[in-house]
Parts: sequence; C-alpha cells; structure tokens
Amino acid sequence: MRIDVVSIFPSYFDGLTLSLLGKARDSGILNLNVRDLRDWTHDRHRTVDDTPYGGGAGMVMKSEPWGLALDELASGSERPTIIFPSPAGEVFTQAKARDLATREHLIFGCGRYEGIDERVFEYASSIGEVRLMSLGDYVLNGGEVATMAMIEAIGRLIPGVVGNPESLVEESHEDGLLEYPSYTKPSVWRERAVPDVLLSGNHGAIAAWRREQQIERTRVRRPDLLADDSA
Ligand code: SAM
Repeated sequence: MRIDVVSIFPSYFDGLTLSLLGKARDSGILNLNVRDLRDWTHDRHRTVDDTPYGGGAGMVMKSEPWGLALDELASGSERPTIIFPSPAGEVFTQAKARDLATREHLIFGCGRYEGIDERVFEYASSIGEVRLMSLGDYVLNGGEVATMAMIEAIGRLIPGVVGNPESLVEESHEDGLLEYPSYTKPSVWRERAVPDVLLSGNHGAIAAWRREQQIERTRVRRPDLLADDSA
C-alpha cells in the first residue's frame, strides 16, 4: 500500500519509523511518504495560511499549495482515497480502518489553524474519493496526531504487518464487542489471582468465559456498541 501524508510538521511522523510499521516500511509492504506542504509554496515566506474571508478568529490554510500537493501526489494513481482529518468529519472506526486497509493509495491532508479552504475538498473530490474523518468529538491542534492514529490502525491490518493475523481477529471492535481481560505470569500477584478457568486447560470453558466477559465489559463500558451495529 502507498500512503502519502502532507503536513506542515512532517517530523511529527518520525515515530512511524518504529515498531511494526517501521518494519513494514523497511520490507516494502508499506510505502509511506511524509511531505511538507510548504514545498508547494512559491513565496519567500513559504506561506500556507491567510485570514478568513468574512472575518473571524484564526487563520485558514490556503488552497494553492494544497492544490499543487494533491496534483503531484495523485498523478499516476487512479482516484486515490484522500483523507482529511477533521472534527467535523465522520467518526473513524475499526470497520472503516478495515475498509481503508484494502485501498491501494491513501493521501492524508493534515489541517492546522482553523482548517483548510473549503474549495480544496471540492477540488480533491474531482481527483479522488474524499473522506473527512474525525477521531472523536474533541478538537486537536492539527491533523497530525489524528493521521498517525489512523495510519497505525489501518497499517496493522495490511496483510504481513502483524506477524500473527489471529491476534487481529480477537481484538476489541472486531466483532462489535470489547476484548476480554488478559493475564500473564505470575498466577498470583499482590494477592490477586488469575481467574481459575484460565488455568483449567479446558478450552471450551475458557472460550465461553471470555465471551461472557466481552459481553459484560461491553454492557458496562460501552452500551452504545450493543445498541448500535451500524459502525
Ligand atoms: N475550526 C475547526 C473546526 O471547528 O471544525 C477545527 C480546526 S483544528 C484547530 C485544526 C485541525 O486539526 C483540523 O483541520 C483537523 O485537521 C485537525 N483536527 C482537530 N480535531 C480533530 C479531530 N477530532 N479529528 C480529526 N482531526 C482533527
């Protein structure tokens, strides 16, 4: 998979050279390029923002550098998926990560300030599939942290990135429920014992106990997941 990221703070993404995604990049499974939006500016100050038409607080990202960046990154790809992180977008979920992990080419455009000139989204729709995606109902300073979270969630679903694919199947949100509790050695720690069933060797009983735990944990912590199967 190819992923391009455009940001005015490319060094945010240095962490994506580490761990599983770093290995996926080294092995060629993931072709991830992070680009500086200012490389598509042509003035002495490498300006990417200006005051909003109609007034108001804050600055807005200018359309021109974004247009040039999208033109260059999308050329040669047949309608890439262009994701703009936004608190005003659809909420990113595990199901959406699964879908996006099947795409050939993703472009992430990281907003800053009050966001990006609206015409950029319209233009981007003419060259790719545009998705405005929110991490949740809160506001970040920029799209970088949201993009990193999405790339990590999507990237680990690309075949070959996580060594044991079974570990992906049993995780929270994969079957609409939260994951069951996990324990490792020692069997007793600070007077807290691991549940007996996990030491029983009875695989049927263990599977049944884990399922019960998933349902109970979801009911207590995230009842909305049991009520809503649209995600
Ligand atoms: N004025 C915008 C609004 O009210 O919708 C918020 C702009 S925010 C300060 C700057 C950038 O951070 C956004 O363009 C977006 O890229 C990113 N961002 C902020 N909150 C986000 C969230 N919850 N999910 C994804 N991206 C977010």
